[in-house]
Amino acid sequence: MCHPNPEPMTQNVSIKPGTDDTNVEFFDSHSHLNDEKFDEDRIDLINQFKKENITRFITNGYSLDSSKKAIEIAKSCDFTYATVGISPNDIPQNEDELWKQLEEIKELAKDKKVVAIGEIGLDYYWNKDNKNLQLEVFNKQIEIANELNLPIVIHTRDAVMDTLQILKDNPVNNKGVFHCCPLNRELVKEALKLNFYISFSGVVTFKNSKNADEIINMVPNDRFLIETDSPYLAPEPVRGTRNTPINVKFVADKVASAKGISIEQVAKFSYDNANRLFKNNIHKNF
Ligand SMILES: [Zn+2]
Repeated sequence: MCHPNPEPMTQNVSIKPGTDDTNVEFFDSHSHLNDEKFDEDRIDLINQFKKENITRFITNGYSLDSSKKAIEIAKSCDFTYATVGISPNDIPQNEDELWKQLEEIKELAKDKKVVAIGEIGLDYYWNKDNKNLQLEVFNKQIEIANELNLPIVIHTRDAVMDTLQILKDNPVNNKGVFHCCPLNRELVKEALKLNFYISFSGVVTFKNSKNADEIINMVPNDRFLIETDSPYLAPEPVRGTRNTPINVKFVADKVASAKGISIEQVAKFSYDNANRLFKNNIHKNF
C-alpha cells in the first residue's frame, strides 16, 4: 500500500494480454517512477498496480537527485524498491561536485530499500567526448557495489566492448543486469558468460527489432528479467505513449510468444530471477 491513500480510480487501465489468470504476478525490474512525468499522478498510478497484477517494481536512480527520489518512493510503498547511481549521461560537469555526489550515492546505497547500484555504465551515443571520465565513474560505482555487497544495473549504449572489458577487469561480486539490453548477439553471449542477467524492455516488441526472437531465445529461463523503463520505451501496441509499469505485460507477452511458453511462465521466471538477483536486500524486505 502507498501513502497517502489515493482518490478513487478514474482511469480504466485494465490490460491483460494473452491471459485471464488473475493470479499471475509481474515484477517490473526497471522503471523511473521518479521522473517528473509522474509528478501529477504518481500515487494514484502506483495504487493501481496490484489490481493490474504488478506486485513488485523497482524505481531506478540515474543521478543524485533522482536516486534520492527513488528511495523516497520506495519508502512510501511496501512492494517497491530503489536503486541509486549516476548514469553516464548525468555526470556533473564539475569534477569536485562529481566526487562529492559519488560519496553521497554510497551513503544512500546503505538504505535497506536500495537493492542495487544503478543505473550506471557507458553511453557513447549521447556522450562521446568524456569516455575516460565515464569509465572512471563506472569503475568507482562498481567499487561501491562491491563494498556494499550489491549487484549493479547496467546502462550501455554504443559501448559494448568497453562495457564488457570493464566487467572482465573489475569483477562485480554480486553480478547485475543489463537493463534494456541492446539486441546485440555478442553482448548477450558475453554477458551470460559473465553470469549477468539480461532484462528485456519494450524494445523487443518494436516492429523494427528484427532479431528480437533470436536474442530472447539466447537467454535461458533462469537468466532474464522484464522491465518497462517507464516513462520511456512504451511497448507495442501502446508505443509512443507515457509508459508505466502496467505495460510490462506486453513485454512478457512478447517474450512468451518468442520462447513458446505461457505469459504466466514468463511472469514466474522473471519474478524469481529478479528476487534472486536482488537477494541481498530481498531477505530484509521482500
Ligand atoms: Zn532506465
